[in-house]
This record gives sequence, structure tokens and C-alpha cells, in this order.
Amino acid sequence: MYDFAYHRPKSLADAANLLKGKEEARVMSGGMTLIPTLKQRLARPSDVVDLGGIKDLAGIKVEGSNVVIGGMTRHADVATSKDVKSVIPALAELAGHIGDPQVRNRGTIGGSVANSDPAADYPAAVVALGATITTNTGKHAADGFFKGLFETALADGEIITSVSFPKPEKAAYMKFPNPASRYAMVGVFVAKTAGGVRVAVTGAGPSVFRVKAMEDALAKNFTSDAIKDIKVPADDLNSDIHGSAEYRAHLVTVMARRAVDAANK
Ligand SMILES: Cc1cc2nc3c(=O)[nH]c(=O)nc-3n(C[C@H](O)[C@H](O)[C@H](O)COP(=O)(O)OP(=O)(O)OC[C@H]3O[C@@H](n4cnc5c(N)ncnc54)[C@H](O)[C@@H]3O)c2cc1C
Repeated sequence: MYDFAYHRPKSLADAANLLKGKEEARVMSGGMTLIPTLKQRLARPSDVVDLGGIKDLAGIKVEGSNVVIGGMTRHADVATSKDVKSVIPALAELAGHIGDPQVRNRGTIGGSVANSDPAADYPAAVVALGATITTNTGKHAADGFFKGLFETALADGEIITSVSFPKPEKAAYMKFPNPASRYAMVGVFVAKTAGGVRVAVTGAGPSVFRVKAMEDALAKNFTSDAIKDIKVPADDLNSDIHGSAEYRAHLVTVMARRAVDAANK
């Protein structure tokens, strides 16, 4: 690990000030990704700004028909939240299957969404549910937020403060987990809302993506049979020691069908 200056501000304004003008400064939420990255010397931040001292960044509330989850909220708290379970059970279910108990008790929604790991689970929920990401400087719509591999629309020094998820009519998430890490080899979140159907895929490509052909078919007929013959092209999908691009393309249809069946239960 290289040397860096460590800060633990007590307010969001102080955190933003500490980051201002420092291109190589990084915020830290649970450190589940950041700390291993530092240990492996894959990053050399000048400053680490720990958000752990800012109390009002964690918590879950229901505002109208939205569930609003603070950026520092741990996966374990989302998984066990009565509010999340009652308004969007699929989201609680997703959080409950992230990694292992240690990961769920340190990892945060803000860190997961900011990191845009290609195999992370939350990005699929954010995109399928059409969530809004709020930061210290403004708001981002889900579409267009995840730009690519570990890349988002966040500007340097921008801090995620909360993510707001609108209640869907029906929703479910199904993933084929990597047996070691539990990251998604392929995960598909399907959501049916008054505005239509959204299908978001994680794990398969460099970043989360929607499958329009499935969305159109499901808008007409919300059954797993409606998408049984829809395949995503393997051309741009991930291929690694865990699975080929063709295997992942096959899993997208399998997981999407399972998600629709689960949403209809
Ligand atoms: C063994 C293991 C297994 C895992 N399995 C899964 C899995 O199955 N599914 C899954 O989805 N994830 C999985 N994860 C990831 C984990 O769930 C965390 O969400 C992820 O590591 C981010 O951790 P963190 O919240 O502690 O963020 P940190 O590590 O603190 O930060 C991650 C990155 O986001 C930035 N950042 C953090 N917070 C903010 C913020 N509020 N605003 C702006 N930028 C911010 C940081 O600067 C850093 O670049 C796994 C991780 C591990 C170590």
C-alpha cells in the first residue's frame, strides 16, 4: 500500500471540501473494494476521505411510492429492512445475495453503484427500476449513469448520497452466482411498471445493459414464454475462466425467464 492522507469528516460539506481540487483523492464507504485495490497497489490516491463519520448518509426511508436508500447503507440493512421488503421485495432479495455475510455487513449501496463493477448486482436493480441517484451536487437518472467498465457519470469529487427506487408493479432478480465470490456471472432484473417493462443485465458485459427485445415482448405478454426465443448476441459479452461469452449469452435468457416467473408468483 502506498502512503496517503486519511480523513474522516463529520459532514458532507467537509467531505466535499476535502476532495475539492484533488484529482487523486478517493472517497471510501465500506472499503470492500477500495482497500483491496490499495493493498494490491492498483491505485495510488493522494487522500482517502472516509464517509463513515457522516451519520445521516446511512438509512432507509419510504417517500411516497419510492424507497430511498442512503449511500452509506450496508447491504445487510437493505436485505433485512421491513420497508424494502414490503415496497420492493426483489431489492431486499438482491441485497441478501450479495457476496457473503462479511461483505454484506461492510459493503454499501453508494460504493457498489459508484464502482460500476461489471458483475455487481445493484446496477441491474438501479437500471431496471429506473432509480434516481442523488449526489452532493445533483441527480442522475439510471439510464446513462453506468458508462462502462468501472465507469459512471459521476464527476471527480462527486459523492453519492442516496439512491431512490420507485415501486414497481412486479419485479424480480435472478442471478447465476460465481461459486467463489457470489458476484453475478449473469444477473437479470426484470421490472414491470405502469410505464412499461425494463430488463437489465449485469455480469454478462463490461457494464449493465438493457435488452429492448425482451422489454418489448414482455410489455405485450408478461410471461417467461414470451422471451424464450430471444437471445442476446455474444459478440460484446465477457469471456473469462469462469465462462465464455456464448455461455453468458445463454444464461441471460435463462435468468430473464426465471426472473419473469418469480415476478409473476
Ligand atoms: C469477496 C467479495 C465478494 C463480493 N460479492 C459481491 C456480489 O456478489 N455482488 C455484488 O454486487 N458485489 C459484491 N462485492 C462488492 C461489495 O458488495 C461492495 O459493494 C463493493 O465492494 C463496494 O464496496 P464499498 O461499498 O465498501 O465501497 P468502497 O470500497 O469504499 O468504494 C468503492 C469505490 O466507490 C467509490 N465510492 C464509495 N462510496 C462512494 C460514494 N458514496 N460516492 C461516490 N463514490 C463512492 C470509492 O472511491 C471507490 O472507488 C463483493 C466484494 C467482495 C470483497
